[in-house]
Amino acid sequence: VAEAATLADVIRVQAKTRGASTALVFEGRETSYAALDRRASQVANGLIALGVKPDERIAYLGKNSDLFIELLLGAVKAKVVTAPVNWRLAGPEIGFIVDDAKAAVLFVGPEFIDLVRSLKDQLPHVRAIMTMEGGAPEWQDFAAWRDAQSDSDPNLATTNNDVAIQLYTSGTTGKPKGAMLSHQNFLSLLRIGGTDENPDWNVWTDTDVSLVAMPVFHIGGVGWAVFGLYHGAKSVIAREFDPNKVLDFFRDYGISKLFLVPAAMQFIVRQPRAREMDFSQLKYIMYGASPIPAALLKECIAVFGCGFVQMYGMTETTGTIVVLAPEDHVEGRNCMRSAGKALPGIEIAILDPDGKPLPVGDVGEIATRSASNMVGYWNLPDATARTLDRNNWLRTGDAGYLDEDGFLYIHDRIKDMIISGGENIYPAEVESAICDHPDVAEVAVVGVPDDTWGEAVKAVVALKPGKEASAVDIIAFTRQRIAAFKTPKTVDFIQALPRNASGKILRRQLRDPYWEGKERQVN
Ligand code: ATP
Ligand code: MG
Repeated sequence: VAEAATLADVIRVQAKTRGASTALVFEGRETSYAALDRRASQVANGLIALGVKPDERIAYLGKNSDLFIELLLGAVKAKVVTAPVNWRLAGPEIGFIVDDAKAAVLFVGPEFIDLVRSLKDQLPHVRAIMTMEGGAPEWQDFAAWRDAQSDSDPNLATTNNDVAIQLYTSGTTGKPKGAMLSHQNFLSLLRIGGTDENPDWNVWTDTDVSLVAMPVFHIGGVGWAVFGLYHGAKSVIAREFDPNKVLDFFRDYGISKLFLVPAAMQFIVRQPRAREMDFSQLKYIMYGASPIPAALLKECIAVFGCGFVQMYGMTETTGTIVVLAPEDHVEGRNCMRSAGKALPGIEIAILDPDGKPLPVGDVGEIATRSASNMVGYWNLPDATARTLDRNNWLRTGDAGYLDEDGFLYIHDRIKDMIISGGENIYPAEVESAICDHPDVAEVAVVGVPDDTWGEAVKAVVALKPGKEASAVDIIAFTRQRIAAFKTPKTVDFIQALPRNASGKILRRQLRDPYWEGKERQVN
């Protein structure tokens, strides 16, 4: 598939070269590459018949399913852009995304039919609603509709600069933004992997069995699924993340590779039976999307015994741009704290607030340039201009530095950096000092307004059950480990930290109440 120009070509080539092999397994149902290609054509013909025009959007509000992959590939064959929606969001937030995308057709999973009934009057662009597994008599059923279509490939002229997927960012720092990802964005990343001249973790063979364990509305889900298809692997699709089921999938399908976010790894490794299971078929666990606590990583290495690959990237870069290879998961060189090195073909630079490159070792904003940088944000020209410059350098909004060997160290989001008395303070450093306190379960550090210092450091702490360390105890403990100006001035206690669907801590949710009516300066 190396010569494929679009994701539609990928499935066409796979159908020709390995038509009988299994592409997808979902709840016992197997779909071959040939069947997937045929169904994609049917979906494409159906979309055309519904009057969906090239470059229009369709939205998918559903859990992971093989039907989603059929839909996605069918849409690319019709030159239509799929926008998968984060179903973990609240109703109004879901409505915001479907409306923002101006989706012409909304595809709905069975769990969300009632929600869509209540929302549909606020979605003026939606011309048709299709249910993925039946269950709503007023709307059409996807499978029946698909089966009624011709399976001849519409063969529309598409180019690799066409947008393939509109993927919304996780909304950690604000409202989700629709990142437009082209065929070229995906294919340039996919071509880095493959069979020859690659490090072993990036070699795929058609004997690989991949697990799509993360949601398809996230690049770690949909991007991972596309990887499996590109490399002709068998992809097992998990409807939703369930740590116990992941262990079943390992056992039943001999999963060789998967991608997980750190929060998911923690749930799996803490399953009691994980300690007794045989993981000899598991070759690699890829992980990323948020920082990983060192203790958790060590625990996973001990329990799973496979190779580990850290990935750093974002929706806007079509996923991974920096990788910590298995052989760099060693202590001593500080590598366990690094996110790794740039993939071939990916440039990384560290910039000062004026956009000038900084030398090795200096902390600044991480920027990147490559063929997998998004086309832009949908309908947000200002945000696009702030993020992507004319030379295709993309500002990640993350702070970090590079060492002399090219290893990238990620600090925090620039927006989360605290400026107190002119000093830059990175919450992660303060959090890691507080986390060493034996009574602390989890902590987030934020900047709150302060008349003298501009901002003051506040820690929001969740204690372990039955523990009762006081604010004074925590401040005194932290002061022994880090400088006075970084030590929290105040501590609040909370039951559990607010997190989004990817397990990322929502610092803005903790910080915003303190800033009501005040302007927070951000670099
Ligand atoms: P939004 O852009 O809407 O605020 P988000 O940035 O969380 O949400 P994503 O695109 O899903 O949305 O996440 C990308 C971000 O995740 C990166 O910018 C970075 O902050 C974080 N991230 C990704 N990989 C890693 C990693 N390996 N280590 C630490 N942080 C990571
Ligand atoms: Mg982001």
